[in-house]
Amino acid sequence: MEGNKNYQVLLYYNYVRIEDPEAFAKEHLQFCNDLELKGRILVAHEGINGTVSGTVEQTNKYMETMHNDPQFANMAFKVDPHDGHAFKKMHVRPRKELVTLRLEDDINPKRTTGNYLEPKEFLQAMQEEDTVILDARNDYEYDLGHFRGAIRPDIETFRELPGWVQENSHLLEGKRILAYCTGGIRCEKFSGWLLREGFEDVSQLHGGIITYGKDPEVQGELWDGRCYVFDERISVPINRKEHVTVGVDYFDGKPCERYVNCADPDCNKQILCSEENEHKYMRGCTHECRTSPRSLYIKEHDLAEEEIQRRLDIIEREEQMKQKA
Ligand SMILES: [Zn+2]
Repeated sequence: MEGNKNYQVLLYYNYVRIEDPEAFAKEHLQFCNDLELKGRILVAHEGINGTVSGTVEQTNKYMETMHNDPQFANMAFKVDPHDGHAFKKMHVRPRKELVTLRLEDDINPKRTTGNYLEPKEFLQAMQEEDTVILDARNDYEYDLGHFRGAIRPDIETFRELPGWVQENSHLLEGKRILAYCTGGIRCEKFSGWLLREGFEDVSQLHGGIITYGKDPEVQGELWDGRCYVFDERISVPINRKEHVTVGVDYFDGKPCERYVNCADPDCNKQILCSEENEHKYMRGCTHECRTSPRSLYIKEHDLAEEEIQRRLDIIEREEQMKQKA
């Protein structure tokens, strides 16, 4: 079997009224610290959204304690075995919203939300006519993996999604819309918003991509690439029947599933790139980022001025060749 998987990563949310998010967060942080969990939890008047890591014992204790609280008795946990912590610290933060959509007129997903489709139903629906599969995540998440044939909204943050839909509504009109996201929480609100916008046939993947990948029957079928996650793992596999790489290297366009952050901390853009290209381009997404005096790559590798110049010359020569071709 693979490695020493005596840790677990939990992903969960619950839309439920929390009267005093500040007080709840403070108390909950203490509870998590006592359990020695690490991770990130958001608390709002509208509920809780979290992902934490810990040993099997610690995370089981967390789930058990939460389920003993009537407010969270039915909260679904997605549980991923792992070989260590997936976070460095433990944060519990009070927030206005669990997902940052910033609608002027907010959606309460307990009242307005799309039809829930279980993994098997979603798999079936994807293959029917007159359906559109709509990815409700950000562009960099889509680029590493997505459902085959899904629409890729050109957005960097979730709050840009409503505007994108309004500008591209012709893609969705008259169709059965199948929305999905990582764990399901974004679609709860987004699908409700779609309904309010007047789209009539709106469904969402219940439990998100993560649940879909764990389903013993569908086994992640029709998912291509890997699924981006917001912890140190960066991505997880979904399709257990076949693997199709869809990510491409930022620099040379070759298949690639390795995300790095641009070495210029002022840029910090996530780019897919091979180890080889990371060194060749000093992990900078542009010439400006490569030559930034704050470049983390240059610092990490303690590069001398001549070495930096040598690499920049190679890049420049290649770019000139490309322009000639
Ligand atoms: Zn950059």
